[in-house]
Amino acid sequence: MANYQDLSNEALQQKYNTLQDAYEAIASQQLQLDMSRGKPCTEQLDLSQPMLDIITSSSTVKTENGTDARNYGVLDGIPEAKAFFASILDVEPKQVIVGGNSSLTLMHDSIVQFLLHGVSEEATPWIKQDNVKFLCPSPGYDRHFTICEALGIEMIPVAMTPEGPDMEEVEKLVAADPQIKGIWCVPKYSNPDGFTYSDAVVDRLAGMQTAADDFRIFWDNAYIVHHLTEEPDELKNIMRAAAAAGNPDRVMEFTSTSKVTFPGSGVAALASSEKNITFYKKHLSVQSIGSDKLNQMRHVAFLKDKDTLSAHMKKHAGIIAPKFQTVLTILAEKLGGKGIADWTNPKGGYFISLNTMEGCAKDVVELAKKAGVTLTGAGATYPYGKDPYDRNIRIAPTLPPTEELKKAIDVLCLCVEMVSINRLLQR
Ligand code: PMP
Repeated sequence: MANYQDLSNEALQQKYNTLQDAYEAIASQQLQLDMSRGKPCTEQLDLSQPMLDIITSSSTVKTENGTDARNYGVLDGIPEAKAFFASILDVEPKQVIVGGNSSLTLMHDSIVQFLLHGVSEEATPWIKQDNVKFLCPSPGYDRHFTICEALGIEMIPVAMTPEGPDMEEVEKLVAADPQIKGIWCVPKYSNPDGFTYSDAVVDRLAGMQTAADDFRIFWDNAYIVHHLTEEPDELKNIMRAAAAAGNPDRVMEFTSTSKVTFPGSGVAALASSEKNITFYKKHLSVQSIGSDKLNQMRHVAFLKDKDTLSAHMKKHAGIIAPKFQTVLTILAEKLGGKGIADWTNPKGGYFISLNTMEGCAKDVVELAKKAGVTLTGAGATYPYGKDPYDRNIRIAPTLPPTEELKKAIDVLCLCVEMVSINRLLQR
């Protein structure tokens, strides 16, 4: 395969003309393919359909300790749900709050609490201090960045590497600036790169010196059990590492069953030190009398324990791993060796990260849109929607049926080639 960087302008122009013909042929088909969000496909949702039969009109609706799950109460989750999440997260049940249907809500509410009340009884609310700042390993999850933007928190991007955030940069920044109060982390199969943090990165995050004594790590373990291969990545337990390093209250960990059962109708959980959990519950008690216990019961009865959950996740992988493979095969076939793009090959999670040549991603997404393929907006994976290199495109392979996925990735590759050649012609 010819590297486009080495081709003459004449050769590039010729290629461009051929690609443009192909593009026009596809554009005339008026496709309507949406690859913008990481949603499970129908077959994945069907895997959890039997869960809906668990609580029927003739079911017992008492929790393990005899509470009637139909009534108010139990602020921090039914005991069996706390035990279930504790075993998944490898913490003690007393370190867990089981919430409602969304971990994003728990993250948002944690930050609001810290802004309004501080991180503990002794601490000063963040809003009573100067400008609050967060470190944002980028590319990252756009909704984390939206929370910061909505709450007036200044975002400082730091580079992501296959091992996790660039820790030289992180350590330097947090040591120097007491207004840096937090960092967003998707430590396993990160969104969008699919990277898992190395043990060394986990240890450095757990132990680093921070100028702020009310600094918190937002450990969004959304893809903790979402493996695509038989050799899952291992992630070191940061809660234990932080406690061992003398920072037991540093980490707020989040997860949910959104991409295990039903997004929007799953169960979310927060884990932290006992001290943080007690403080969180105090404020939670003002906003809620308790979350949906019937849904918690249903989930525990269906997912049961680590082994049952793992078997269930293998069924997910059976459906979506071939879709990831389809994307990777097309990318390699169409873009491999051309010197115009690279991409990640994740062992889990929901995304593949595609990096074009600098300055091309926006144009690629726009061109694809005109041909009927909607991708996640270029820039969305960076704070303020601004990718400084205009290079990163998030591919979400799970939702479309394979035939549609193939078409969409064909169009994407075509657009990457056309935009890249255009750039090269302007050299
Ligand atoms: N965190 C990450 C990293 C995600 O990718 C997603 C879903 N796309 C969420 C959180 C949302 O989780 P929930 O449905 O529990 O709010």
